Amino acid sequence: MTEASDPRPALGLRRVINAAGTMTALGSSAAVGEARQAADALLPWFVEIDDLQRLASRTIAASTGAEAGFVTASASAGITLCIAGAMSGPDIGRIRQLPDPTGMCPDVLIQDGHRVYYGAPLEQAIRLAGARIVPVAQGPGAADRLRSALGAKTAAALYVVSHHVDQSGQIPLADFADICRARGVPVIVDAASEYDLTGFIGAGADLVITSAHKFLGGLTAGIVAGRKKLVRAAYLQNLGIGRGMKVGKEGIVGAIAALQAWSRRDHDGERRREQAHVALWLERLGDLPGIRLALSPDPTGNPITRLRVVVTEGSGTTAWDLADALALGTRPVIVRDDEVAQGYFELDPCNLREGEAEEVADRIVLELKEARDGRAKVTSLAEWRNSRLTARLAWPDAPSSGSPEIR
Ligand SMILES: *Cc1c(COP(=O)(O)O)cnc(C)c1O
Repeated sequence: MTEASDPRPALGLRRVINAAGTMTALGSSAAVGEARQAADALLPWFVEIDDLQRLASRTIAASTGAEAGFVTASASAGITLCIAGAMSGPDIGRIRQLPDPTGMCPDVLIQDGHRVYYGAPLEQAIRLAGARIVPVAQGPGAADRLRSALGAKTAAALYVVSHHVDQSGQIPLADFADICRARGVPVIVDAASEYDLTGFIGAGADLVITSAHKFLGGLTAGIVAGRKKLVRAAYLQNLGIGRGMKVGKEGIVGAIAALQAWSRRDHDGERRREQAHVALWLERLGDLPGIRLALSPDPTGNPITRLRVVVTEGSGTTAWDLADALALGTRPVIVRDDEVAQGYFELDPCNLREGEAEEVADRIVLELKEARDGRAKVTSLAEWRNSRLTARLAWPDAPSSGSPEIR
């Protein structure tokens, strides 16, 4: 992957530096060679998709410890299909009837802090199946509230493991699964952005949804793993509402190859490279006026430590305006800006190519100097949010210039 082979300039696309993470709006991942080659090799040929998905099932089972699995268009699609499968079972009439849930159990339990937004509301992925959301308030007594919410109309309970989750007062997964299992209600875990492929099945999940295009570095796809009966019912939605969420052969074989490559990856070497990027930033940015730095370990235990850049009073700018300024130009630096309202953004070291950590540091030094010299654009948070949304809604007019909404 050299600069000479970079197709972006010829397409009129900016050469973004991804210091944000694996974001859909940034093209998800830098796909690993194994996944790209597997897709390239299969693309000219016809295959029997059910057989390719049988191979995926065996590969997913070997990687996760689950009984079975399949590949779908995205993790979001996986959520919808798992919920739909829990409602319909393997009944073809019911599968064709959804999203009309008449005659089926429509209720899906979810803890309040798990109703996250990952670029779209998670709840919408649930409702798309025709299900009805039954929220369970977190905090003291949550386990009892979960027990009493489980009822005759409950199809499933959804548990989200993510940095988006409000972590306080949540029922731990193992307890959540025990309570649901005692009532025969399947537990579906959305672990789309997690590094660990085996622990959730071990903790009692019946179905687990992960992403093929986040840590795994596959092509864009979602992976469903779990108990065979439930996996089958979710897979059969491809004869119904799943049709609009279909994955191509390239996505399926890309996920298989990425899973196989995962066990051979040099995980320690990748951690060392990421730590070196953070060390470089600490050294280059540590003494700069206008910001304060802090290490930010991943909240769900993924093996990533990001660098938090707190924009301080007297810097001449704000966290959101600095993020925006970094995202301008032909070499935009896109930072992790979902918490800018708290006065900081984060730098994610996982997706940087050779030399890019230096470019990120150079750019921050430059933009902070501009701000100190009074040349930064300074907006209120409300103005900034509004202008970003306006730009997004104007698509296809107004090509990207500032910081996109990048989830
Ligand atoms: C990314 C993410 C999703 C959506 O995954 P896609 O594959 O992009 O659809 C769902 N849930 C969580 C927790 C995520 O982080």
